[in-house]
Amino acid sequence: MLTLLSIIFGAFIGSFLNVCIFRLPKEESIIWPGSHCPYCKKPIRFYDNIPLLSYVLLMGKCRHCKIPISIQYPLIEGITALSSLFLFMKFGPSLSYLFYFAFVAALIVITVIDLYHQIIPDVISLPGIGVGLIASLILPQITFLNSLFGVLLGGGSLFLVATCYEWLFKREGMGGGDVKLLAMIGAFLGWKAVILTILLSSLIGSITGILIMVVKGKDFKYAIPFGPFLSLGAAISLFYGQNIINWYLYLNR
Ligand SMILES: [Zn+2]
Repeated sequence: MLTLLSIIFGAFIGSFLNVCIFRLPKEESIIWPGSHCPYCKKPIRFYDNIPLLSYVLLMGKCRHCKIPISIQYPLIEGITALSSLFLFMKFGPSLSYLFYFAFVAALIVITVIDLYHQIIPDVISLPGIGVGLIASLILPQITFLNSLFGVLLGGGSLFLVATCYEWLFKREGMGGGDVKLLAMIGAFLGWKAVILTILLSSLIGSITGILIMVVKGKDFKYAIPFGPFLSLGAAISLFYGQNIINWYLYLNR
């Protein structure tokens, strides 16, 4: 029963994340006005605003103007619902579940905004660092010192890489947004997870870059944002970090 509730709760939060994704880059209020169709501007009634379900019932179209609703909406709602379910199965009904769900929700918003706009909003990452540090005082999974080292290592290491890159190639490689994002990841997951996240995201990012070059040709000139890879690396670290570290230690006995 509670498991089912965690899915429904996740879907509703996903619906809210869609609003954040749409409005934060435009610096609009995420509370007011209520949801409306981006085309005909007609308000969306509550019965047309049920996560996942409404999309199916309306067959993916606005009730008024019949213009297709972006697949992004049910997709984000589905991904957020699944994240909520997996975190609930991992942590059970606890504060840990709530804090880590907030963390994953932030990663989802950051990923989509970075893909569209190549920016990581400070209004998510900077408060995120604070929330992560406070969470470490409450949660049994992480100590405050570990969280603090995570922030310093996350912020410091990427800052160092970014500065060296700029100095070597005389152009900006990694955005300041990535530095603050990795500091937030460190605050929630600790310093070991920061190292793991950097390794995983560089690996997945390189493979993706090579695949895109193979498919689109070498002259493809779209700068791939790094935020989505950092977020994915952080999510893997959250769920499997301890397994990966144990496996690594086992190999090096
Ligand atoms: Zn419409």
